[in-house]
Order: sequence, then structure tokens, then C-alpha cells
Amino acid sequence: MAEMIDPFGRAITYLRVSVTDRCDFRCVYCMAENMTFLPKADILSLEELDRVCSAFVRRGVKKLRMTGGEPLVRRDIMKLFRSLSRHLDSGALEELTLTTNGSQLPRFAHEFADLGVRRVNVSLDTLDADKFAAITRWGKLDKVMEGLAAAKDAGLQVKINAVALKGVNDDEVDRLVAWCGDEGYDLTFIEVMPMGEIGEDRVEQYWPLSMLRAQLAEKWTLEEIDYRTGGPARYVRVKETGGRLGFITPMTHNFCESCNRVRLTCTGTLYMCLGQEDAADLRTPLRLSESDDLLDDAILEAIGRKPKGHDFIIDRRRKQPAVSRHMSVTGG
Ligand code: SAM
Ligand code: SF4
Repeated sequence: MAEMIDPFGRAITYLRVSVTDRCDFRCVYCMAENMTFLPKADILSLEELDRVCSAFVRRGVKKLRMTGGEPLVRRDIMKLFRSLSRHLDSGALEELTLTTNGSQLPRFAHEFADLGVRRVNVSLDTLDADKFAAITRWGKLDKVMEGLAAAKDAGLQVKINAVALKGVNDDEVDRLVAWCGDEGYDLTFIEVMPMGEIGEDRVEQYWPLSMLRAQLAEKWTLEEIDYRTGGPARYVRVKETGGRLGFITPMTHNFCESCNRVRLTCTGTLYMCLGQEDAADLRTPLRLSESDDLLDDAILEAIGRKPKGHDFIIDRRRKQPAVSRHMSVTGG
């Protein structure tokens, strides 16, 4: 079947799926404390999610990442991972993975490894239990540490994602680099993005990674490497620890020219760009017919209007987020 090439010649080989908009945390940069979640009827069943993901795999998607909200709080989510792992077995899919806050990994890490999941991204912005509680509002650092231990024990490669937050974890970046080096985890810093109303001022949170990197370079030797994971991170190696360190800089460096991905929400809405409002409804064609023909057509039509790139701005003049949906809707 023909692969998906967008209007700018980019092959679409990576699908991220937000399997739920719910979460057991309420991170200050991601959600407001009182969130209204989607009604259940709007949400694709696990079988429907499988159908959509499989349609993308048939069209050349090689990497599937489950995210959310917190993917592991969705009931019976392992059923979806189990059924999608058939595409790993067949060789159609190169990677099945997830981004998680880690709180549920103690339960699931070993099963992931058994299914052929090799790597997990775990979001962790601080090693300080009080700060962690303040950032996540509802999270417990101990539980995430247990999850990380379980992942390690299961032989999963771990990458830590940390959002750079001015005045919050800016005094901890060296400690995070050292700790990840000791534990054998890759580490990626992310710039805070203007997504959704969160009841806080993002100008106060935003810390450009160029500044973070300059601060790190005072203590560590950062060596350029050309390691890529198919994601937007640019990596260096920290000479002293041997660990890989990534920077995701949507605000200070536009990486759209090499974008290979699209994002599906749990309601079957396909966003062709994280930073744009344009979207395609895949739920209607999915539910209209048991055959996948309508779904396939809708996917191709959507890829045909993938935009060139995003347009994020955080500044004091612009009070509105660039896109109104929260990160937990489209998934990180
Ligand atoms: N719950 C999972 C987790 O936290 O890893 C998966 C979903 S979460 C939305 C995915 C990633 O997006 C996390 O690493 C989180 O830190 C990041 N994130 C959430 N809101 C963000 C924002 N406004 N700007 C930048 N990153 C954000
Ligand atoms: Fe939940 Fe992840 Fe958003 Fe935190 S970043 S509130 S863990 S979805």
C-alpha cells in the first residue's frame, strides 16, 4: 500500500496516540486542577484504537507511541498493547512505545518488556519530593521511583523527559544530569509550550533551553553526536557520565522541516501538527463502516493537508495559548 507523503515531501512514519485525556497527576504546566474530561461515548474503544493504529501501520507507520493524559490509567490498556504487538512480531512496526508519568509502571513494566517494548519515556522534572508534589499537584515521587526501578529490572531502556521550568527546577539540572548518568537513563529537556489554559502565567515558567544548555556547559562537557530517535530532540553526549542528553526546543528552534509524525486523540481526531488547530475526524469514517476503506481515505486526505509547521510564541503581549487544547489532549 502507498506510503504517506505530505505536501512538503515528508514521509509520515510516526503516529502518536493519546489513548485517554485523563490522568492521575495534575502537572501545573499541563492541566488546570479542575479539568473537565471527555464523555466516554466520544472516546474510541480499544478495538477502534487498534483499527486506526493498524490502518496507519499499513500505510507505512513504523513507530507508534501511546501517550495521553496518562496512558496507563486507561482501563485495560494492556489489551491494546498486546494486540498492537502483533505488528512488531510481523516486522511491519519497528517500535511500539509509550510516554508515561511512571506511576503505574510497577504494575506493567515486565509485561511491556515481554511484548517487545524496548524503551519507555518517563516524565520527571525534579528529584525533590516536595517540588515533585508541587509540580504534579497529585503525584508521589516514591511511586515514580518504584516505576523506574521496575522498568530497569524488566530491561527497558528509560529516557527521562524533564520540562525546564524557570524558578522551579533550574537549580537542579546538574543533579538530573548526574543522576541520569548514574542510572543509565537518557535525559531530554523540553521547553514549556503554550498549550491550553492552565490558570498560570507561562511567561513565569518559560526557560529557554539555550540558557539551560549554557548553564550545563559550565559544569559538563557536551559533545555533539548525530544520534536521532525519530523525534524532534537534538542530542549531545555528556562526556563525564557517558549519558545522552537531548533538547526539545519548539520555542527557540523550529524543527518542523524534518517532521515525520501525526497525532491521534482518544476521540479519533487526527492533528497533523501539534501547534496548529487544523484536524481531521477519523471517528466518523471509522464508525460508518466495518471496512477500513473510508478510514483509509480520510487518513490520506488528512496527510494531504499537513501544514508546514507550528508557530508558538510565549511573550507578555500574547496572553492566549497558541492552541486552545491542552497537551493532555494531543499527547506530548
Ligand atoms: N502523562 C504522560 C507523561 O506525563 O509523560 C504522557 C502525557 S504528557 C502530556 C507528555 C509530555 O508532555 C510530558 O513529558 C510532559 O512533561 C509534557 N508536557 C505537558 N504539558 C507541556 C507543556 N505545556 N509544554 C511542554 N511539555 C509539556
Ligand atoms: Fe498527566 Fe502527563 Fe499532563 Fe502531568 S504531563 S498532568 S502526568 S498528562
